[in-house]
Amino acid sequence: MRTVRFILYALCASALVGIGALVFMLKSHPTVEFPQPLQQKSANGVRTLFLGTSSMAWTDGQTTWLVDGFFSRQPLSKVALTRLNVDNSQVRAVAAAMFKRLNMPSVLGGIVVAHSHYDHSMDAPFLAKEYGAKVVGSESTSQIAKGQDLPSTQIEVLQGGGQVKFGEFEVRLIQSAHAPTGFTGGFNTKPVFLPAHALQFKEGISYSFVVSHPGLGPGPFALIQPSAGFVEGQNKGFSVKHVFLGMGGLGKLSHAYIENYWREMVLVPGATHVYLIHWDDFTQPLMKQGEPLALKPMPKLLDDFPRSLELLKMFSERDGVSLHVLNSWEMVYF
Ligand SMILES: [Zn+2]
Repeated sequence: MRTVRFILYALCASALVGIGALVFMLKSHPTVEFPQPLQQKSANGVRTLFLGTSSMAWTDGQTTWLVDGFFSRQPLSKVALTRLNVDNSQVRAVAAAMFKRLNMPSVLGGIVVAHSHYDHSMDAPFLAKEYGAKVVGSESTSQIAKGQDLPSTQIEVLQGGGQVKFGEFEVRLIQSAHAPTGFTGGFNTKPVFLPAHALQFKEGISYSFVVSHPGLGPGPFALIQPSAGFVEGQNKGFSVKHVFLGMGGLGKLSHAYIENYWREMVLVPGATHVYLIHWDDFTQPLMKQGEPLALKPMPKLLDDFPRSLELLKMFSERDGVSLHVLNSWEMVYF
């Protein structure tokens, strides 16, 4: 009897130690050294404000539009254990601070959604309703918008890719691929009603975005790659100066994969400036009590940001390309 009790105690103790270690690993973030903030060019020209993951607000002083706009960033315990809902007050607070930083009125011309996982798609329909935008993306993303009752006039499906205009901006959606993380694939074929578990948001199609603006010349000037995946040859036929490069999950992938990703996204379009995005732990908020917060890298258990950063630094030095880790609330001027 005593032996059985001892074994039970031992099992409970080791389970607790295991859970404790797991929680510890999920809460330990590697440190990042941020370089000098970017030089400010013209406060009134084309600019983009980075807001964690692949959320970015773009404006030319006339029209403001978003990539994703995922601002809820629920804590890990909520993501793991509960069904998620849009955090209305947090999303409104981040959006208000965003418009203020951009020095723009609270109006959105549109929202392009990178793919349909919750950390890209969940808040877009809410933002579209609040600020009068349309949501542009895949059929899967349209089911998330329908689940939140966004009118069909505010949903545009560009399933295989295509072009959309927001004021003078032109954004081309190219069918790309998700980083091979083990959470990929699947389509939302019915409306995704909230609250919904994170895993109910199926990937759908993953896009790259190619951005043009007549104020910056006739061709495109920026490529946004939200997820660290690629389709070989997807960027042939155009060149850009700036690439916003998604890093999520990259640290756990092979050296060869990371080098191919760099080639397809940076060398093929001939970019000279790379800004790293989607490297952060999106279970950490962008603001607390009205104050903006800095980002933290993904915990080591889920990603290895120091490793992928080191490799990308090596490639950037080899190829003479500038590399910048974007922090939240940081603005890039063109
Ligand atoms: Zn994803």
